[in-house]
Amino acid sequence: VPGPQADDHAHVPPRAGELFRAHGRRLTAQRRVIWEVLAEEPDRHLSADDVVARTRDRVDPSTVYRTLELLVEEGLARRTDLGDDRAYYEPAHEHRHHHLVCERCCRVTHVHDDALADLGTRVASAAGFTLGERELTLFGVCGDCRARGG
Ligand SMILES: [Zn+2]
Ligand SMILES: [Zn+2]
Ligand SMILES: [Zn+2]
Repeated sequence: VPGPQADDHAHVPPRAGELFRAHGRRLTAQRRVIWEVLAEEPDRHLSADDVVARTRDRVDPSTVYRTLELLVEEGLARRTDLGDDRAYYEPAHEHRHHHLVCERCCRVTHVHDDALADLGTRVASAAGFTLGERELTLFGVCGDCRARGG
């Protein structure tokens, strides 16, 4: 059961047209298709190959890879490395999200920065280390898998 700090609110990515115009980029038909695949499932984490599979009939794979990198460079999409050589793409969120990766079912969920409370302060005082702005990836067992037991 998600607590108050779980990321249970809806994330609605901006429409492609406005977004690309705001970034001074041309919205080609292929870029629109790729953006819409990401935006359709804003809380899913799609690999480049997932995006290729979803756009196979409309965009060639090399354009998918190039466009995903462009979206990341422009700050429109976020690429996250979730271990085991898995890199995932999602629309950039307007606020910071950390990733929770279930080691049993591989599901990835979000948790907001405020759920980590004073982690940064604790790390700083324990190790003299200042956490940066990057998001964190935490591995463990999700609520569903824990409920199933084992
Ligand atoms: Zn959120
Ligand atoms: Zn994410
Ligand atoms: Zn799980």
